[in-house]
Amino acid sequence: MKTLITGGAGFLGSHLVDRLIADGHEVIVFDNLLTGRIDNIAHHLGTETFKFVKQDVTEYLYVAGRLDAVVHFASPASPIDYLQLPIQTLKVGSLGTHKALGLAREKGARFLLASTSETYGDPQVHPQREDYWGHVNPVGPRGVYDEAKRFAEAMTMAYHRYHGVDTRIARIFNTYGGRMRPRDGRVVSNFIVQALAGEPLTVYGEGTQTRSFCYVSDLIDGIVRLLYLEDHCHKEQASDLDVHSPVNIGNPVEFTVVQLAHEVKRQTNSKSPVEFKPLPIDDPQVRQPDIARANKLLEWRPIVPLEEGLAKTIQYFSEIATGREE
Ligand code: UDP
Repeated sequence: MKTLITGGAGFLGSHLVDRLIADGHEVIVFDNLLTGRIDNIAHHLGTETFKFVKQDVTEYLYVAGRLDAVVHFASPASPIDYLQLPIQTLKVGSLGTHKALGLAREKGARFLLASTSETYGDPQVHPQREDYWGHVNPVGPRGVYDEAKRFAEAMTMAYHRYHGVDTRIARIFNTYGGRMRPRDGRVVSNFIVQALAGEPLTVYGEGTQTRSFCYVSDLIDGIVRLLYLEDHCHKEQASDLDVHSPVNIGNPVEFTVVQLAHEVKRQTNSKSPVEFKPLPIDDPQVRQPDIARANKLLEWRPIVPLEEGLAKTIQYFSEIATGREE
């Protein structure tokens, strides 16, 4: 299989590159390195089955020759990033998705969209199943990411329905692991970096809000299962086994943010205090994936518990210069 991964130099994109190369496939990465890092893919540069192109995917995309799959992972994805890059976030979710779908159509390639649990917004249904339409503030600061991804899903389904592109949509829930940027602002990386540096752990709000954290290897396993899965269903058949409708990929074990802070402190033997800061606007109060569909369709469920995944991630952050400015 020859696959184009947009955003392939990012946290998740680069782990997907590793997996596809390990599975014996050819990979091309398009990334403008806005939030991605060349270090994440440096070990593949110069090899025969890998190619990197510095490319903004909101512009016209060209790939010579055959292409079997287009996987669209490009986007700022941490709340801090998309609050600082609101226009780029909206553009990559809208124009970038359109370009990536256009390329998939031209090549007769399968298309997989990296969507998000943010499509559910601050959910009023808990846990979140794929048939929940969500509760998003379109004009709030987070709306730039949520609405870009919701548009991306709509565009993906339109290309499937009207152009017959073989599309897949993965709704990715909070994921953590090596290659997260130390200062990307997400809760897992923040807490680990703070604990290792002996700085206060910054809990936003009262820390009673919940998230369900998936270790990166589990997430990637779910994504490739969805990517590799053949479409055995009749085109118009809406069933649990329809491969084109969104699939939640995440770990359903739910924690409060305060529980996470204490687990990070415990594992790092840190004496850091917990410091309470204002809750960001529209910060979802709860989040937990219902993964019954992924379980049935992909025979997938996460296997790495938070304790084990955190230990590996703490190891990663201990090994890099944690104080480094990005
Ligand atoms: N959070 C926190 N302290 C931090 C960073 C984040 O308490 O230093 C909270 C944030 O308000 C949210 C949760 O942790 O409730 C997860 O935040 P993150 O940015 O990782 O991702 P989100 O799930 O909000 O997209």
